[in-house]
Amino acid sequence: MGLIVQKFGGTSVADADRIKAAASKIIKTHQEGNQVIVIVSARGKTTDELLKMAFEICDAPDTRELDMLVSTGEQISISLMAMAIHSLGYPAISLTGGQVGIRTDNSYTKARIVNIDTTKIDEELKKGNIIIVAGFQGIDIDANITTLGRGGSDTTAVAIAAKMKADLCEIYTDVDGIYTADPRNVPDAKKLEKISYDEILELASLGAKVMHPRSIEFAKKYNVPIFVRSSFNNTPGTLICKEVPEMEDVLVSGATLSKNDAKITIRSIPDKPGQAANLFHEIAKNNINVDMIIQNISAQGHTDVTFTVPKDDLALAIKMSENIAKTINAGEVLSDDKIAKLSIVGIGMRSHTGIAEKMFSSLGEEKVNIQMISTSEIKVSCIIDEENSDNALLAIHKAFELDK
Ligand code: ADP
Ligand code: ASP
Ligand code: MG
Repeated sequence: MGLIVQKFGGTSVADADRIKAAASKIIKTHQEGNQVIVIVSARGKTTDELLKMAFEICDAPDTRELDMLVSTGEQISISLMAMAIHSLGYPAISLTGGQVGIRTDNSYTKARIVNIDTTKIDEELKKGNIIIVAGFQGIDIDANITTLGRGGSDTTAVAIAAKMKADLCEIYTDVDGIYTADPRNVPDAKKLEKISYDEILELASLGAKVMHPRSIEFAKKYNVPIFVRSSFNNTPGTLICKEVPEMEDVLVSGATLSKNDAKITIRSIPDKPGQAANLFHEIAKNNINVDMIIQNISAQGHTDVTFTVPKDDLALAIKMSENIAKTINAGEVLSDDKIAKLSIVGIGMRSHTGIAEKMFSSLGEEKVNIQMISTSEIKVSCIIDEENSDNALLAIHKAFELDK
């Protein structure tokens, strides 16, 4: 007997028929003699609709109340899923994040899991129940409901799988695995049989929404094997696992395009020690994630700094930048939210040269201007104009023969 964690995403529970189909998959796993813990997301577009409701009431809803609201989406799914399993004659119980002991910090809308108290899970498994857990949510130390950020149900699933030392964590979604690029935007994308934790972590962090980045951090730390597969067919899917030597032979495993970033430039910052610390201290204090940073060569004792932030945080980041620009006697603050980040990822980059150059030259052939570049051991990212970025992704995908 094994312990299997299965997660069903929004599309996989969007209507009654899909919930029933997911219930049958769950029961099959249970019938094979396994204990099963299921994590479900909100149905279809429920989370978007809940957010829309909040923004119809006010422009800047209180984040505690926002989490109270959006967490209800998952609560609908878990109760319906439990009913579907009951009606097929099997025992199941639905539990919210709080009931299942998922304790988080108190950063509403982007909380991090700090601990899982498994007492309730252990009890219910002992009774023979299939456990249906609401994804994406937890409670903080004062019992406030928190959520883990968009797409966070993956993280609930992997964190529970890690804590329970599950034999397998299956992520059921609306594509049949992880592809070399988002198959919705790149028709020639190819499904990968295997991908390493490091590669999918980079891809997810750079915008491939197939997995929530934080879920991969858990998976890597606790060595949880994950299968990403379709809830609509029985094809094997993609295994996310520890890297094996032959993975290094592949130069680039995947490409991704994100339109979720915006760019801020602060002109004419006095070029002296401590200024960057002042600026980014202010931004970090507001829990805004800065990604790329470029500082120009100093001219007449002044320099320009450009950095990127998530689009959602742009208004706040501009406000912070304007405040700090005033206090340090810098010049104007400019912003641009019509940018895109195009990235390639592969652990083969560690041992092969010329990959960044190939990316740049194929962008050049496409007449795409590169505004910013950042690299790590296993990725190259370029900020480009949003217009035409979809074609740039296709060109890069082709240049690295990811369609082969
Ligand atoms: P779920 O609701 O099941 O969590 P998501 O919409 O969050 O599903 O994630 C699945 C989607 O991720 C796919 O429909 C696909 O468009 C997108 N995606 C982005 N990059 C990739 C990739 N490299 N491989 C597969 N899917 C990807
Ligand atoms: N329902 C949440 C969202 O739409 C969490 C998830 O689906 O993983 O972002
Ligand atoms: Mg998702």
